[in-house]
Amino acid sequence: MNIILFGAPGAGKGTQSEFLVKRLDMTQISTGDLFRAAIKSQTELGIKAQAFMDRGQLVPDGIVIGMVEEVLQKGKKNIILDGFPRTVAQAESLDQLLVKMHLSIGKAIFLEVPMKILMDRLTGRRVCKGCGAVYHIVSKPTKTEGKCDICGGEVVQRNDDKAEVIETRLSTYLEYTSPLKEFYKKAGRYVEVDGNRGAEEVYLEIEKIVK
Ligand code: AMP
Repeated sequence: MNIILFGAPGAGKGTQSEFLVKRLDMTQISTGDLFRAAIKSQTELGIKAQAFMDRGQLVPDGIVIGMVEEVLQKGKKNIILDGFPRTVAQAESLDQLLVKMHLSIGKAIFLEVPMKILMDRLTGRRVCKGCGAVYHIVSKPTKTEGKCDICGGEVVQRNDDKAEVIETRLSTYLEYTSPLKEFYKKAGRYVEVDGNRGAEEVYLEIEKIVK
């Protein structure tokens, strides 16, 4: 089954996608990760996206949709769309793309997490520059400060996890992304999962939905 995983920044989409990839052999398409990779290799797409991302704003719909179309054309199965769609316009374009590609989405799973918890998760999040492993200064610190437990790479704060940018990301989410709940309710594909629990507990509920 192809699914959409959506929710506010810090809701746990990346963590849950990682579990689904490892345990159910699903394919993750994370638009945030794709943009970060493009920035790292300084492609034209990356340079265009970076200014928006650093400010905590959404990358314009046209750029995102073009990128997703390219990835979907690779013809993977059991896809997790992680962080896409993020606006109603993107959701409408996705529906058109799916028809064109003879694909369908089984469920749009929304991870519900209270705002206060999101703030704590995002301000404390740290990532490895080398392998992308995700840590948290309180709930999942590295064994040696600033050094990745897995690859020994440098562990840093994402530019867009700085306090002033987080505020913009959360208000952007409320304005543009939360209306997707109604969109997928109307489409009969909406499922809500309480994301304010341990990652394993959240995963088991998502697994039941996917299976
Ligand atoms: P994420 O890693 O999902 O939190 O995404 C990081 C940033 O990438 C977001 O704050 C946006 O600037 C950009 N981004 C990721 N996905 C999308 C999308 N579907 N539409 C617009 N911008 C996006």
